[in-house]
Amino acid sequence: MTRDKELIRGIQTKAVHAGEEPDSVTGASAPNIVMSSTFVVKEPQGFSAANRDPDTPYVYSRWANPTVQQLQEKLASLEEAERCICFASGMAATSGLLFSLLQPGDALVISDTNYPGTAELVRNSLPRLGVDVIPVDTSYLPNVENAVSSKTRLVWIETPANPILRLSDIAAIADIAHRSGAELVVDSTFASPIATRPLVLGADYVVHSLTKYIGGHGDAMGGAVLGSRSAMELIETEGLIHFGGTISPFNAWLIQRGIATLPLRMDTHQRNAMTVAAFLENHPQVELVLYPGLASHPQHDLASKQMDNYSGMVSIRVAGGEEFAKKLAKELKVFHYAVSLGHFRSLIYWIGTEELVSSSYQIEGEQLEAYSRIAGDGVFRMSIGLEDPDDLCADLDQAFSK
Ligand SMILES: *Cc1c(COP(=O)(O)O)cnc(C)c1O
Repeated sequence: MTRDKELIRGIQTKAVHAGEEPDSVTGASAPNIVMSSTFVVKEPQGFSAANRDPDTPYVYSRWANPTVQQLQEKLASLEEAERCICFASGMAATSGLLFSLLQPGDALVISDTNYPGTAELVRNSLPRLGVDVIPVDTSYLPNVENAVSSKTRLVWIETPANPILRLSDIAAIADIAHRSGAELVVDSTFASPIATRPLVLGADYVVHSLTKYIGGHGDAMGGAVLGSRSAMELIETEGLIHFGGTISPFNAWLIQRGIATLPLRMDTHQRNAMTVAAFLENHPQVELVLYPGLASHPQHDLASKQMDNYSGMVSIRVAGGEEFAKKLAKELKVFHYAVSLGHFRSLIYWIGTEELVSSSYQIEGEQLEAYSRIAGDGVFRMSIGLEDPDDLCADLDQAFSK
């Protein structure tokens, strides 16, 4: 049976079939897991990753592996990317990209609100290598215009951004970056390819933590970088093969299996998040609800333009954040009080502003004031799962009232 790729068109069909073939020897319908570090080659092959070409057979699993290859093809299909490279984690993907592309003397313009792992890596490691890091609020376009210069090699945004779900306009920022000769990277973990396809909007690279929505089951860790075939060459040779953050074929298999239901899950995540967000907006103890799907979100219009799905992340502010967090950790019966996101289980976690700013963004003055006006002394970040939404609201209600 030969598969007609032309017929693998819709997002749900891609999620199920892209990158996969029934096994040519056994006919197995589900993909095999190829847990082999090395491969028997028919002719001697060179040792240098630089000498590889598209016809090089499988040699060694840090270079390429058939199970990982299937996952890469499925993700490339969903993101409408020429190529995808998978890594052991989202941070391995992030560091693989940054350390492959940036040179001493380059500048990186980056959102002042994003995943703390990214913020800490960028702030601690890049200046040591002679890269100028310029954090700005990328939700306000003139900030980006003013920050880019001929030194700017990359602009990095995360949208929606952790933890206050601030959006950045991908198409407009791609345009600003390109006019000054820079490239745009989008960490699209919170959106998933179901909500947003940044490459189609003009971005040059997309980064995902596959640990979150894409894997979707809260078990396997993984990361990915997607972009054009030529742009991915350096990231593959240096960022993956030499830095060595290779994903296990077993994790790649679990994530690939998770993707089959990604469109269905995102649909339910969105619907449940909308119910919980609306419930919390009317709750007397809640000061502020941040959810891109609510009309009250400051960038609801941009969300409607740029996202096909508002995703399942909701952040709220409640008076006395830290004490309240202790209570919730003890009293919640359905929600797990745990970090991470994008799983079928609902998760909640308190993120204090002081610790977040001191450990990552290092913003001060007006930038800090603008952030604090939204986040107060901290926010509860919720990843709304696939449970019955009425049960989630009831769980929050009973824990809040304790
Ligand atoms: C989790 C996360 C990462 C890091 O991914 P890991 O798989 O934990 O290494 C990066 N960016 C965002 C937005 C994330 O949520």
